[in-house]
Amino acid sequence: MRRGRAQGARYLIEQRTMPPMDPKMIEGVRRALESERDRLRVELAEEVEHPRVSHGAQTAAATEVSESQRGQQLRGREELHLVQIEAALKRIEAGAFGLCQTCGKPIAPERLEALPWALDCVDCHSKKRR
Ligand SMILES: [Zn+2]
Repeated sequence: MRRGRAQGARYLIEQRTMPPMDPKMIEGVRRALESERDRLRVELAEEVEHPRVSHGAQTAAATEVSESQRGQQLRGREELHLVQIEAALKRIEAGAFGLCQTCGKPIAPERLEALPWALDCVDCHSKKRR
């Protein structure tokens, strides 16, 4: 391959690494992520402040334990979700939103609409799950 041609090809690749998504769609996704982030922050803050009412009866205490465990599980999921959302917002700011973190290819818009915080494309995701 001649040198001039290689440079031309490199230029084309640079052009192609531009955000593959419509800026309007990214803006919509960003707003959806921000409101979800705010909602989760409020919810997580509320759960911390919520005082646990203590009951005298043993059965009530047993129920309370399982409820608190369920609450912790839910809280853990919400915290993880918040981390994912914040990471997605950072990728939007960095201009890397919508690119698979594993293979670098654009993630399908349908997947991003359903899961805006998705880190990998459907192909890589299904490979990981196997
Ligand atoms: Zn991928």
